[in-house]
Amino acid sequence: MALIRMAYASEATFSPQPSEAGVEPNVARILMVSRRNNPRRGIVGGLYYGNNQFFQYLEGDEDAIRDVYDVIRKDTRHRNVKTLIMEPLSEVTFSNWTMKYVPMAEDVSRLLKSEGLDRFEPAKFSDRMCEKMIGLIRNASETGGYGNRVAMGTAGPVGEVFTPGVRYGLVAAGVSLVAALVIGGVLLL
Ligand code: FAD
Repeated sequence: MALIRMAYASEATFSPQPSEAGVEPNVARILMVSRRNNPRRGIVGGLYYGNNQFFQYLEGDEDAIRDVYDVIRKDTRHRNVKTLIMEPLSEVTFSNWTMKYVPMAEDVSRLLKSEGLDRFEPAKFSDRMCEKMIGLIRNASETGGYGNRVAMGTAGPVGEVFTPGVRYGLVAAGVSLVAALVIGGVLLL
């Protein structure tokens, strides 16, 4: 089996919708299908979505990677797909992940800043920047505990089930319920 690794940059064609549990809904659908398909093909890697651009990194058997890339390239949810890396690999480095969605917008912002970049434009990444980006995704795979062998990145942590607004709403509802029970109890006495 000949292993290869690849990375590409592309531009989303959809307008970003409000996040659901920290993930843009179109991206969430892409992740769901990737998580289903990639394990069957022995493909591992990660996806980062920010500034309406994608950066995806994949490792696996050459035929499997080329087949999935043919499909991905034709997907109308993105355009201007630019191959950044396509080369042989001696061993898989993302062995625990099928499709990683990294909740690390802050890390990426820091990386961009350190490189003098003011926005996420992966199509313009140098080889060095690509490797740094892959490193960020890889490190997140080692430390992240988001379950599901998947991760990816935009705005919020995938691991958080509720948005802050919903959390505050639930706390307020809980407080109201306790207050109602106390008042009800006092009235009954
Ligand atoms: P199905 O299960 O038949 O369909 C897949 C789902 O995607 C369906 O819900 C379908 O409605 C939806 N869908 C497909 N095309 C479109 C479209 N143009 N607009 C809206 N919805 C659509 N696939 C992988 O298997 N692995 C990957 O790593 C991967 N990475 C991706 C990264 C990006 C940035 C994008 C845009 C797509 C990626 N995909 C990936 C998805 C891929 O392009 C195919 O849609 C998918 O592989 C098809 O899988 P399937 O044959 O099992 O399709």
